[in-house]
Amino acid sequence: HAKEAGRNRASHFDSDLERRALKRLEIDRAVLGRSPMDAVEILLQPQIAIAARAGTPRFEVLARWRTEDGTLIMPGDFIPAAERNGLIGAVTAAVLRLAIRRLRQHLEQNGTEARLAINVSAADLEARGFARRLLEDLHAADVPPDLIEIEITESMLLRMTPSLKSTLNVIHRGGIQLSLDDFGTGFSSMAYLRELPISSLKIDREFISGIESSRDRNLVAGMIAMAHSIGKEVIAEGIETPRQLERLAEIGCDWGQGYLWSRPIPPDQALAEFG
Ligand code: C2E
Ligand code: MG
Ligand code: MG
Ligand code: MG
Repeated sequence: HAKEAGRNRASHFDSDLERRALKRLEIDRAVLGRSPMDAVEILLQPQIAIAARAGTPRFEVLARWRTEDGTLIMPGDFIPAAERNGLIGAVTAAVLRLAIRRLRQHLEQNGTEARLAINVSAADLEARGFARRLLEDLHAADVPPDLIEIEITESMLLRMTPSLKSTLNVIHRGGIQLSLDDFGTGFSSMAYLRELPISSLKIDREFISGIESSRDRNLVAGMIAMAHSIGKEVIAEGIETPRQLERLAEIGCDWGQGYLWSRPIPPDQALAEFG
């Protein structure tokens, strides 16, 4: 019996590994088979003022990959595929092009501003000239740099090289906002928080989903107090319920983002409803 059970376990293990390897291959093929300029689409998710003074409407830009046959691949799958196949620079360029164009169109048609937060990968920030090109593209499109925010993650800070530091400083000095995504899940040190030209911290959904417990509520309250004490604002990610919002309002969270208000939706719809 033991032997049989062992064999069953082993075959489950094999087929699971096999399934994952197959999926990975399939996504690699999809990503290699189409140019990012054709395949990348963007959605926007609104960021809502909680304790903040509502000013310029804000959105996070979330990328999707459209395959030739119309299937949509999520970023959790295709971003790692793009990274391992040397295509992440082209994906980010496609996302930025779409975001800047949509912003230009919004400024012209509505005469009002909107601010878009873009996720980037470590390889983007390490690529020579990334910050300079971004600033040039914004200038060419006549989009004010302060309408763009770049989201970096704590894990990118683990390799804080002089060139990464200088890229972040060029971005900041150019007037582009910087924020720290998935805050609390990585290893950011207080020294980085003090030194980096970051204007906001995005508290990861992991803490927000637990915020009805006093432990997570106290933890998030501490993060908010710490952020405010060093002059940063806080955005809570993944707010799904009115009770989570209520808790966050009580502890002075500045901004919120989550399914409570909206999933990521097509830019036209997002700008019409929340712009
Ligand atoms: P992220 O930057 O932390 O983005 C938040 C993710 O949480 C998004 O998933 C969003 O749809 C999801 N989300 C927002 N509100 C809620 C909520 O209330 N409940 C739940 N369950 N989820 C919520 P998405 O769009 O699948 O993106 C996943 C991750 O992929 C992003 O996490 C980001 O790290 C990465 N990503 C997305 N777009 C890009 C991109 O253009 N470039 C790069 N490098 N990475 C991207
Ligand atoms: Mg993000
Ligand atoms: Mg995040
Ligand atoms: Mg996250």
